[in-house]
Formats: sequence, structure tokens, C-alpha cells
Amino acid sequence: MISLLISGHNYQHDLYELIRAFLPEEEILFLDRVEEYSKVGYLIKSSLYEDKKGFVAISEISLYDDTLYNYKVDINSININHYSQEQLFKLAIKGSLFQILSNLTKNNMPWGILTGIRPNKIMHNLLDLGYSNNKAIEILSKEYKINKIKAELLNNISKIQRKHLYPIDNDKYSIYISIPFCPSICSYCSFSSLPINKYNNFVEEYVNNLIYEIQETSKLVSKKKLNTVYIGGGTPTSISTVFLDRIIYEVYKNFGENILEFTVEAGRPDTINYEVLTMLRNYNINRISINPQTMEDRTLKAVGRTHNSRDVVDAYNLAKKLGFSIINMDLILGLPGEGIEEVKRTLSKIKELDPENLTIHNLSLKRGSFYKKNIDEINPIKQSGINMEDQIQEYINEMELYPYYLYRQKQISGNLENIGYSKKNMECLYNISMMEEKETIIGLGMGAVSKFYNPITNRIKRIPNFKGINDYINRIDELIKNKKEVLL
Ligand code: SF4
Repeated sequence: MISLLISGHNYQHDLYELIRAFLPEEEILFLDRVEEYSKVGYLIKSSLYEDKKGFVAISEISLYDDTLYNYKVDINSININHYSQEQLFKLAIKGSLFQILSNLTKNNMPWGILTGIRPNKIMHNLLDLGYSNNKAIEILSKEYKINKIKAELLNNISKIQRKHLYPIDNDKYSIYISIPFCPSICSYCSFSSLPINKYNNFVEEYVNNLIYEIQETSKLVSKKKLNTVYIGGGTPTSISTVFLDRIIYEVYKNFGENILEFTVEAGRPDTINYEVLTMLRNYNINRISINPQTMEDRTLKAVGRTHNSRDVVDAYNLAKKLGFSIINMDLILGLPGEGIEEVKRTLSKIKELDPENLTIHNLSLKRGSFYKKNIDEINPIKQSGINMEDQIQEYINEMELYPYYLYRQKQISGNLENIGYSKKNMECLYNISMMEEKETIIGLGMGAVSKFYNPITNRIKRIPNFKGINDYINRIDELIKNKKEVLL
């Protein structure tokens, strides 16, 4: 157990997340007074105060009555001219806590004090403030405690992204459409996906409501410019081709034909066939995902996927034959029972297919998931101590792929990150927009989240659609009203 006593600031949540990153198993208790420390587990004190020279952040960790480590950061020592005082306070407070936790655990977290899911946003902000790439890397290393390799990775990604993100155009927007049905539910799934065999009766009504939402929303953005469209889920190709055709037809009819990029996440190979691929190609859609997650048949079966690795190869070859020029494939590291050998076998097979985009996820263990409880026992990669990243990088290099977006998740296996790779100039623009949040994305369908970007404050306003199918179908007008309030 960790008892946390804070004085002089209000960064409880940030400190909580940082402690959890270092000590994920520990319960964290907030104290109001030091007398409440029951002398069970560690006591961490975090304070911000002003002395003669200026503001100082100090963190101290003790066990019973013994102080183990303490660390002080003078705010004046942080050399980022353009940051507000609040930003500097936060850096100093987290920096001092980071130091004592590193000392205690002997663990140098590669992502330093960052606990958020979009580390690249900080790189973009530093570049926007006028810092050079080298200076931004230096700030990330020194003040955010990010290790050199990760800071360089952010730098390389930001170079690719900035070609697409800038100049910022407030009239530009993208659309995300959610089709929440799947052929079966994978055991690690963290989305609100619905098994199609159980929810088949809902599909037609769902599609009708979605089309209504498309029609009504398009009236709100008639003066703006549509950038990209992404149909995801769930598995969009799990519904009948006729329904998917109707949805795409309505997108073009209502939002216009002038769409820079249109992606359909076909996803599960067991839903991909000649009919659906031909329909997509007839709409000139040339970008899809076919997601194996692993090419190990034993694992696929164990996690509840109803396809095998042969289905992946067949779906991929068929899509290529029909002219899809950009195919993304998703893999997951840390699946139960998979060690380095299984991952290497999967990567060898993916290398033979040579997809234009590859996204490598680390298994994220959401609360309540069966795997969360058992992760240490079932994940041989975590136990092996092998540097997985180096092994993967060899395959990435051989496939001539470059990282172009990155995000982290809470409770991610090995405290790592998910990375999207692409061959040169074949990046998915929607993924960049969605991750870096410098463009409005309108979410349509069950569980889709709209993110309205304000370029003046550089902030987004999130408006989620309902996560349950009954709410989505029965309360669709409430969702349209919510969008009207922001867009009109
Ligand atoms: S295919 Fe994706 S969305 Fe569908 S159940 Fe599996 S993990 Fe969830």
C-alpha cells in the first residue's frame, strides 16, 4: 500500500497515475494529514512551496519512520521559456516524484513522467512553440525524463505527421463511423462489440438509425471540408454487404464525393469475401484493414477468433488481386501463451505478405478482463526479459516500414506503446488526425466519440454517442441535438 500526502498543489490524479506506472500492484490511499499514515506500506509526501528563491517541488518517500529518498526541483531550474507557471509546477512536481520512485524501484521508465496516451502531442506542442527538433528532444529527455530512444521516436513520428497536420485548417473535419458487430467476441476485446449471431435482428434498425444520423449530421457541416472517412467497429464487414453498401452510398450522397481518404476496417478475415471487396472497390475505396493479431492458429483459437492464419493469407491475397493498394494489418504482442518465437513466426509470415501499413499493439488489460488477473503467469514475453522491441525492429526494417503514429494505453502489457507503421507516403491520415487531435472528428454510430477541435485553445471537446444499442436506436435525436449545439 502507498499512502500519499499532498500539500500546496492539486495534482492528485497525475501523481496517482505516475505511482501506478511504477507500482501497478499497490493500492494508493490519499491522506489529508500525516497522522493518518497507519505505517502500513510506504508514505509518499509531495509538496509545492515558495521560498526566498522561488517555487520548489519536493517529494519524499518513507517507510515507517525512516526517510528512504527525497528529491527537490527548483521551478527556476526548468528551462522552457514558453510554459505557463502551471505547466512548470506540474513538471517539477512529477519530476521530483519520478526521481524518488526510480530510486525506490530501480526502474527507469522509458516514458518518464508521461502517463497520458498521446505522447506525441507534447512533441508537437514544443515544435509549435518554436523549439527546434533537437531542443525539443532535449526538453523531453531532461524535463519529461523520457529516454533518448523514445524521444527520437517521437521526433521521427512528428516529422511525418506535421506534413499532414499543418497548416491547421479549422474548416477541415473527418468522420468516424462505428459498426459495432463482430462475428465472435475476442477474449481480450475492450470495445463494446456485439456478437452478430445474437444481435442479427438489430442490424437493419441500427443501419437505418446510422443513416439518419449521417443525413442529419451532414446538414450541420455543409460549409466545412471533409478530409477523411474511417469506418471501424467492431467489424464493419460482419454486416451484410447490402447494408454496408447503403451506409457508404449515404456517406457519399450526404457528405460529397470529395474525400481525401476513405478507409474501411474489414478487420476479421472471416468476414472478407469477393462480394464485399468488390463492392468496396466499386466505391473506389482502396484502403482496408485485415487484422490477423497473430498468425498462430493455436492462439487464434484460444482467444476466440473464428478464423485461422490461412484465412488471413487468403483474404489478403484476394484483396490485393482486386486492387486494394493499401492494406493495414494489426498484430498484438503479449497474447496468452505467446513468447518471442511465436511473435517471430507471425512477423515472418506478415513479412511475406508485405502490407503497406502494420500496427503493433501491446495487449491492454482492461479492468475485469480475465487476463488482467493472470498476466504474469500467462505472458512468457514479460517473464523472459527478452528485448522484444529490438527483435521486432529487424522485421520492421526489412519491410521498409516507418513509425507514423503512436499511442499508449493504461494497463498496457510491459508499460510499452502501440505503434502504427507505414511504407513511405502511405500513412493513414485518419489515424494521425484521431491521435494528434488537431482536427474535428465527427463520430457516428453506437459508441462513436465526436471530438470538436478548437484551434484557438488547442483543445478538443468530446461528445460521445451512447454505448448501448438500445440507447443508440431509441435516443438518436438526443445525439443529433448534441452535435447541433456544437456545430451550429
Ligand atoms: S474483432 Fe476487434 S472489436 Fe471485434 S471482438 Fe475482436 S477485438 Fe473486439
